[in-house]
Parts: sequence; structure tokens; C-alpha cells
Amino acid sequence: MEQYVIGIDVGGTNVKLGIVSAGKAISRASFSTQEFIETPQALIEAIVKAVQSHLRGRNVDPKRVAGVGIGLPGLVDVERGLVRLLPNIPGWRDVPLKKIMEKKLGFRVQLENDVNMITLGEWQYGAGRGFKDLICMTLGTGVGAGLVLNNAIYRGPGFAAGEIGHVPLSEHGPDCGCGGHGCFERYVGNKTLQKKAAKMFKDKDITLEDVYRRALDGKHRALKFWEETGEAVGHGLIGPINMLNPEAVIIGGGVARSFEFIAPAIRRVITDRAMKTQAAMVRLIKARLDDDAGLIGAKVLVQNEER
Ligand SMILES: [Zn+2]
Repeated sequence: MEQYVIGIDVGGTNVKLGIVSAGKAISRASFSTQEFIETPQALIEAIVKAVQSHLRGRNVDPKRVAGVGIGLPGLVDVERGLVRLLPNIPGWRDVPLKKIMEKKLGFRVQLENDVNMITLGEWQYGAGRGFKDLICMTLGTGVGAGLVLNNAIYRGPGFAAGEIGHVPLSEHGPDCGCGGHGCFERYVGNKTLQKKAAKMFKDKDITLEDVYRRALDGKHRALKFWEETGEAVGHGLIGPINMLNPEAVIIGGGVARSFEFIAPAIRRVITDRAMKTQAAMVRLIKARLDDDAGLIGAKVLVQNEER
């Protein structure tokens, strides 16, 4: 009998949840995080209610639920089932979420960092299938990465590995929220790109989506915007590619929508500037699972735990 996994993707803006079966999300729901952001308890209760009503609404037999995977935007102690810190959701410090959720939901629960959960989804069911070593980078407000090294996700001893957005590219660059200067995220994060677009198109309300559409229409300035973005992304990838020698870099997140416009410039910078062996091996691939990557990653999490 086909087993279900419940995936939950907690973001600073929305909580997304859904049922995953055979590597596909078969149902989805979401609600605004902001309404329940006051305390961890309030958000936990909201998630529990949403999961229960989602299962009831679809007549899912709880016996067929193999487990729950929860992705969170911050530092997660995967082994102890502890949310150490969520930088953008106040009050979350050392919350034993695995234990709390198992008690409230009655299912087995696994926690994971959100970018790692996306990485697991893309690696097992999406753009990363068959690779042993890859970097799965998400380009959004935050810039992060999941690392698959030698066929396993690499989290580091403090569960903090993969912060590609905070690799400094310039000693004298702009200050970053992490305490550093000139971090990669300060050049290619959404906030910076939006500011740049507003200036370039003399329109303070322009969105990156608008610039994407203009590029589709072949507008010269929009194509130039994405080419320069691709060059900046390429520069940030040289260090990680030289250091890790990955077979593939998967690019996801909102900016990945413009993959076709940024990819040639990324490729060119890597070919010109990265070390020869690494540059020749690495493939550049667009993420394939889009919004479902985290949910599908939850299935990988739960299934890994069963082994
Ligand atoms: Zn930083």
C-alpha cells in the first residue's frame, strides 16, 4: 500500500504543507506565517491545526502516513530534533519541535533546514538525480546552498554548513547582516537586485518578475540586467566550485525563473575564471521541482530515517 509523507515548509512569509506520495506532491495548502508569529507556541498550534484539517479534508487514513518532514529557515539540530535559531522568526531558540510535533500529531517527525530539505528533494527526485557531489543554491531574499558531498548531505558539526551567501567576495564590500562585509548575498540577493532594477529602469516599483517579462520580450536593457546578474552569480560560484569540485550546481529560488537569461553569463565566468578541471566538470542546471522541492524533500527525509 502506498505510504504518504506530510511535508511542511516553514518560511518567514508562508507555511506551506502538503501530502507527498511516490515522489510527487499530491495536495498542497498554505497559510500566512505573519498571523502566528508572536510566539513559537502560536505558530506550532497553527501548523498542527492546518495539518489535521488538511488530512481530514482529504480523508487520509492516518495509518498510511509514514511520517512528517519539517523544513525550517534557520539552524536546526537534526539529530536532537531541536530548532536552535530562526533568524527571521522571533522567539525560536532551542525549541524541541520534533518531540512537540510527534506528541501533537501522533506521527514520526523529522526536522531539517529548509535549504537542505529542498536539496534532498532536487537530489533524489529533481534536477540532481544521479549526482554524487552537488551544490543546490537558492537565490532569493536570502542566498543559501545545500551540499551533497560523496552521496550524502553535508551539514557540518554545528548544522551550519552551506552558507554560500555569506562567503565574502570583497574585503571592502558593503556590510552584511551576518556581521561580515562584501558577502555574496549582498551582490545577488533580491533586495540588491530590486534596488539595481529600480535604478536601471528608473521605476521604483519594478519587480524582478517585470524584468524577467521584459527579457522574454527581448528588451535590451532587461537582457543586460540578467547578464550582469549572471556574471555576479558566476563570480560567487568560483570559490565553492574550486574548493568542492562538484559535478553540478543546481540553481533554484525566485531568480532561477530567469535561468535562461543568467546561465550563459554564469557559464562564461566559470569557464574563464574557475580552475580548469573543476570548470570542465561542473554542470549548471535549473532546479526542477520549483515550489514542491521542500515538500518532496520531506519524503526523502522520512524515508532515510526508515532505513
Ligand atoms: Zn553575510
